[in-house]
Amino acid sequence: MPPSLKVLSTRRQFLNRAGMLGLASTLPTGSLLFSSENSASAAAEARVALPVTRNRAPLAPSAFYFLPLGSVRARGWLDEQLRTQANGLSGHLDETWADVGPNSGWLGGKGESWERGPYFLDGLVPLAYLLDDAILKAKAQRFIDWTLDNHAASGMIGPASNDDWWPRIVMLKALAQYQEFTGDPRVIPAMQKYFQYQLSQLPSRPLHDWSKFRWQDELLSVIWLYNRTGSEQLLDLASLLHKQGYDWMAQYADFQFKERITAKLLKLQEGNGLKDLALATHGVNNGQAIKTGPVWSLVSRSDVDRAAAVKMISELNKYHGLPNGMFACDEHLAGLDPSQGSELCTVVEYMFSLEHALAIVGDPAFGDRLEQLAFNALPGTFTDDMWAHQYNQEPNQVECSLHQKPWTTDGPESNLYGLEPNFGCCTANFHQGWPKFVASLFMLSGAQDNDKQDGLVAAVYAPCEVNTSLRGTAVHVIEETGYPFNGTVRLTINPAAPLSFPLQLRIPAWAAGTAITVNGQLQPAPASGAFARIDRVWKAGDRVEIAFPMKPRISRWFQNSIAVERGPLVFSYGIDESWVKLRDRGMTADWQVFPASRWNYALNVDSDAPDRSIVVTETEVGEGPFARRHSPVQLSVKARQINEWRAEDGAANPLPPSPVTSDQPEETITLIPYAAAKLRITAFPQLKS
Ligand SMILES: [Zn+2]
Repeated sequence: MPPSLKVLSTRRQFLNRAGMLGLASTLPTGSLLFSSENSASAAAEARVALPVTRNRAPLAPSAFYFLPLGSVRARGWLDEQLRTQANGLSGHLDETWADVGPNSGWLGGKGESWERGPYFLDGLVPLAYLLDDAILKAKAQRFIDWTLDNHAASGMIGPASNDDWWPRIVMLKALAQYQEFTGDPRVIPAMQKYFQYQLSQLPSRPLHDWSKFRWQDELLSVIWLYNRTGSEQLLDLASLLHKQGYDWMAQYADFQFKERITAKLLKLQEGNGLKDLALATHGVNNGQAIKTGPVWSLVSRSDVDRAAAVKMISELNKYHGLPNGMFACDEHLAGLDPSQGSELCTVVEYMFSLEHALAIVGDPAFGDRLEQLAFNALPGTFTDDMWAHQYNQEPNQVECSLHQKPWTTDGPESNLYGLEPNFGCCTANFHQGWPKFVASLFMLSGAQDNDKQDGLVAAVYAPCEVNTSLRGTAVHVIEETGYPFNGTVRLTINPAAPLSFPLQLRIPAWAAGTAITVNGQLQPAPASGAFARIDRVWKAGDRVEIAFPMKPRISRWFQNSIAVERGPLVFSYGIDESWVKLRDRGMTADWQVFPASRWNYALNVDSDAPDRSIVVTETEVGEGPFARRHSPVQLSVKARQINEWRAEDGAANPLPPSPVTSDQPEETITLIPYAAAKLRITAFPQLKS
């Protein structure tokens, strides 16, 4: 981190206080109704007793269901990450960025009246309630109250100056989360009325542009409401959204976008260009689209739809896949070169898609990829204090500067760390990443109502605590772990009374050789890439310990290059960084980052036995584990420089095809987790053995 950011923090503390005081004096009294500490804790207790809402007939059952929001809370490093986010831009964006400030159209002002207010809410609501933070709840409440109190007689919600369906799709997601956290009785009637209105309007004012390409995100909210009300009109609306929405399943059944998309291909220089082609190859749209097959399969009951997400991910990976788990989209599909970037909106939307695909389909591979994004691409694109972010990040990111980079359509500021590099969508939208990840850690298994086999699923791993109930018995689970930095996960299961239920544990595809013990007793060896299932009568204090094998592994990428992985983490060579402030931006700043060391290394690794040539050093997982200065795991590996591999215009040239040779001296270099290296090489040439 640049030392000057520390100086800013003092000023921030002052401004924070000023902002909070200003906020407190302008809050309408009614807005505290659902945000006082007492009502929040009462609501939390009531929620524990709430049953999970399953899919209502004729919808197909999901493999797993999300627990009511608030049932899963972060602990350990994950809780610290949420607090860092709240102390950073998420908790203060409205104080320093006019687009979600007091003049927002979603607060009745004349300012930004499109997607930015709803985007902010979609992450602020779960962040505020997971942290039980009264100030953040009050900030969210103002937008929620304005939206619910200014509901048009027609049923329309949102600023009257903008009737686009798209920003409402986002606000519906925020409202549904808010209702789950608070039980506010205004939400369900407002959503019902809005959907009735939309059903009457869509025949004459159909989905278009963003809403046409992102209809599946509205379908989630339609299904959420149908499961609570059973209103058949909602099924009619679901079918109409499907009919008017873009056919993502067809796009991926016969995938045509196998090359890097160019501005020329999109004819962006010619007026509006080929709008639908641009939207079909747009990174964020594709990230959102990954959930389309699973979510629509609940309505269609089609196995082909249900399986569609696997095909989509496989095609994206094959033609645009990057070693950080993302596909290249800067901001259109950008091919396989690791100097191409991925947009932050796409990271968080891809995560959200995977969370729903995992719940609906129950395929553990979605959990593997979700962890890869959450533990690498997500933290890698923020400064450690979450006061600045990039618009796009690259696996081989040798400079973050105003140089013109090789991106498809993004502008020159896109990989700066700042307030709103390139465009402010990510500034408004990134907040959902961590809070929604928390909600996905544990899920409920048991497809049907009254299924005696309902139980808990550890879907993805991070330190957390679960408070829920199974068949009327309260169940409390504590997960203690330094995962993903080490491979030990300890669960303590505390039912209020002895209770029989299955506990399913996701065993990642990379985790062959995982060992599970229950109260010290070794269990049968679990298969990797599957859910291990433990059926027993659980008693308070039962201990489950999972030991994942954490040997380094090699994966293969562009030009036969290699990346080093260990568990869900991807490792990078951290280039020495020189941070140069470009300009102040209110409470934060925009930064360029220049390389202060060589980076053009090829690795000397035996592909067949990478653990023989890579030395692992683990230390305790402490404060800020994604920060470079605290990296709890480091790898040492032999390397040589490749003189002809250079940068041009601030981007690493295409890698020389592996294997490569070098006459440079052998060195031992250190690899650190991807997220810790803000300038990095992640895909390396491999030296000839
Ligand atoms: Zn964005």
